[in-house]
Amino acid sequence: MDVLDSVVIGAGQAGLSSSYHLQRRGIPHVVLDADAEPGGAWQHRWDSLTMRDVHGIAALPGAEPLAEDEGRANEVVAAYFADYERTHGLPVLRPVRVDAVVEADDGLLEVRAGERRWLTRTVVNATGTWSRPFVPAYPGADTFRGRQLHPHDYPGPEAFRGRRVVVVGGGASAVQLLGEIAPVAADTLWVTRRAPVWRTDDFTPEVGRAAVALVEERVRRGLPPASVVSVTGLALREQEREAERLGAYERHPMFTAVEPGGVRMPDGALWPADVILWATGFRPAVGHLAPLRLRSEHGGIRLDGTTAVADPRVQLVGYGPSASTIGANRAGRVAARGVAAWLARDTEGDAVSA
Ligand SMILES: Cc1cc2nc3c(=O)[nH]c(=O)nc-3n(C[C@H](O)[C@H](O)[C@H](O)COP(=O)(O)OP(=O)(O)OC[C@H]3O[C@@H](n4cnc5c(N)ncnc54)[C@H](O)[C@@H]3O)c2cc1C
Repeated sequence: MDVLDSVVIGAGQAGLSSSYHLQRRGIPHVVLDADAEPGGAWQHRWDSLTMRDVHGIAALPGAEPLAEDEGRANEVVAAYFADYERTHGLPVLRPVRVDAVVEADDGLLEVRAGERRWLTRTVVNATGTWSRPFVPAYPGADTFRGRQLHPHDYPGPEAFRGRRVVVVGGGASAVQLLGEIAPVAADTLWVTRRAPVWRTDDFTPEVGRAAVALVEERVRRGLPPASVVSVTGLALREQEREAERLGAYERHPMFTAVEPGGVRMPDGALWPADVILWATGFRPAVGHLAPLRLRSEHGGIRLDGTTAVADPRVQLVGYGPSASTIGANRAGRVAARGVAAWLARDTEGDAVSA
């Protein structure tokens, strides 16, 4: 079997940026992507998420920024990615869902997807978080008679018309979906574990950098990464003003239990509910890396830049501080440099051990 210099897993913003920079360095690689079509997670975002709702999508490296568009993000961004892959001739294979990356002979890594195998000197993992929606275990949740769902499966606001809806979570998705749901629902209740931090100042590059630095520090220490937005704070936009006027952003503390007919609040009252929307985030989709034992004692993968400290053959991009489109772009460049550094060391005959 041929040995590749690198296998990139995932073709979202982070994987495409990595592939672009590997290609520029002349490093032979393939990109394996689980989706049938280009677009990374963007192709799966809910239909009501328009380009007006996104917080700015960084241009892919070496490409023009996305043209002004009011259309659906799941169409506009997917088309942009498809065009990028074509224009740069990136070596993307799909649909290929990687099941495991395991140690092989001679210091190589074997990437497995069903019956298929690739041998490689390095791996750039760019699998994002979309395939791992997170819903916390909550007492009584399995007894609830209504509907429970996660933004991953958000069907658009019409499904909530006339319903009593509990929205759980203090992130950007909760704020945005409340903005859509509150105007059509019979009532909404917003609950979060911690009081949300509202950003009052403008979102300057300094604020963004400070937020990224905080997440970077967590990842350097091997802690599970927090989402960048959890440290940038929340802001309401024009399209959320109607929900604000209706009082949807009055935050309540978490309920103590879920019951068949609703949620039990800390003061003992039952809030009758038809729907619970768990806007409780996503987790990094890194289960296929488990055989490499990259996790630190703190539960996260410790990184130095984008390099896994436990195994420098592995780069993680779009993970932790680089989980944004701009972060993913930069991480792709850093990862390609990390791959090149490992390969140089490899050919110099240094120890190739994990
Ligand atoms: C609702 C929402 C709105 C957002 N809005 C913004 C915004 O406005 N601006 C911004 O900068 N960021 C935004 N973000 C964050 C941003 O989308 C992501 O950080 C970034 O796009 C992630 O890119 P990625 O390449 O890491 O992952 P993804 O786009 O998720 O791509 C991962 C790819 O890996 C593939 N994959 C996964 N597992 C496997 C496997 N085992 N084998 C093979 N392939 C696999 C998937 O098929 C997918 O194609 C938003 C996130 C969400 C959830």
